[in-house]
Amino acid sequence: MPVTGFLIRNVQWPLMERLKENRTRHYLRDLQNAQGFSQEQLLDRQRQKLGRLLQHAVHKVPAYASLSSEWDTSRIPPERFLQRIPILSKTHFRLHADDYVTKGVNSAQLIGNRTGGSTGEPTRFYLDRIAVEHYEAARWLGLSWHGIQIGDPSVMIWGSPLELNQQQAKRYRWKERWLKNRLLLSAYELDERRLQTHLTLIQRFRPAYLYGYASALHILAEMMLNRGWTIGIPLKGVVSTAESLHEHQRKAIAEAFQAPIINEYGARDGGIIAYQCPAGRMHAFSENCFLEVVDPITHLPLYPGESGVLLVTDLHNTVMPRLRYQLGDVVALSPELCSCGISYPLLNTIDGREDDMFISQNGQYVHGHYFNHIVRNLESFRTFQLIQHEPQSLSLKLVKEPSRFHTADEDRLLAGIRMALGEVSVQVAYVDQIPPTGSGKFRYAIRECPLKSVQPLE
Ligand SMILES: [Zn+2]
Repeated sequence: MPVTGFLIRNVQWPLMERLKENRTRHYLRDLQNAQGFSQEQLLDRQRQKLGRLLQHAVHKVPAYASLSSEWDTSRIPPERFLQRIPILSKTHFRLHADDYVTKGVNSAQLIGNRTGGSTGEPTRFYLDRIAVEHYEAARWLGLSWHGIQIGDPSVMIWGSPLELNQQQAKRYRWKERWLKNRLLLSAYELDERRLQTHLTLIQRFRPAYLYGYASALHILAEMMLNRGWTIGIPLKGVVSTAESLHEHQRKAIAEAFQAPIINEYGARDGGIIAYQCPAGRMHAFSENCFLEVVDPITHLPLYPGESGVLLVTDLHNTVMPRLRYQLGDVVALSPELCSCGISYPLLNTIDGREDDMFISQNGQYVHGHYFNHIVRNLESFRTFQLIQHEPQSLSLKLVKEPSRFHTADEDRLLAGIRMALGEVSVQVAYVDQIPPTGSGKFRYAIRECPLKSVQPLE
């Protein structure tokens, strides 16, 4: 529907800018300019933004007030000063959220948001328009690397907005359709019976790109491939977001949709952090956020290339600054430059969620990918979910691939689990399907006990 895209770009956005002072495209141009700067220039700009944020936080935000005299008298660079500040866990933030709101902020400026709470309680927090529009700008920049522009039609495969009633949901869909040129499909409704209907909807809508959770896109792709179907319309890309994208998922999605897969890395409570470029690497938006990677237990900084816990400092959220916010992901930074010519720094790997990291009997971390890798090499199982309730106690749900099932594969899988975790008890159950979590995401590996609960054996 090229007319809708044309109107969105040339009428709706200029109106939003004039009437509502929306500055997303202005920030997008800034981000576009900065992607050609040298690494030193980018670092310098980031340092200046961080300095301004720290100046604001220690003087205006109760949670950071105790640092004000140290900040005012010390001459150390902001990125070094930041390291003196304790990391901010989600639990601490949730319990003391009021202390993070800037004193005297106009409540009309606050935009409330919360995480889905698929594991544990939802986290509530505030943003303002400046922060939100910077996230939007980062997403549009990432999409522009793949030839996608504002107003291009898209199909979004998403968890239903459960909090909406029917009337609100209808309005939401209408707004998505006509103001954003976006067709919504629910991740909860992806089943064999409705596959044909969904594909017909997508084909008629002729999107430039698809956007959705990795697991939802993967389920759709698998159903299509099982029937020997592909999408049959040209797509600029398929954007996978909100979950780590496993290699087998990437392959299936690329085959079913015959398009490049674009990985978006972001979180509701972290903003749009990084985007995949056409060379296949993940570039972090250093203009918007300051990233650190630290050891999960000691919290000491790690060298580029080493995987650890990601800490995010959003450089534009001044209504509720969260410094060194522990998002819950395990990543590695990279010192390399990308061949694509974009200067934004690279994330080497995004290993997934901290909650996906298991702890072995001798205190080693084992990433959920490990178990996924074993299951992919066995023919018997369509999918699985492994939960570590306590370090020694796990449960394993398995969905059979009926035509290729051998009981010996269960023993192989259990042996693989015990090889990594030690002598653990695993309660095995065969189920017909494994439903996604409340937010519509699907998780293979879930750790429920704290990482510190095992004392390493000498
Ligand atoms: Zn690149």
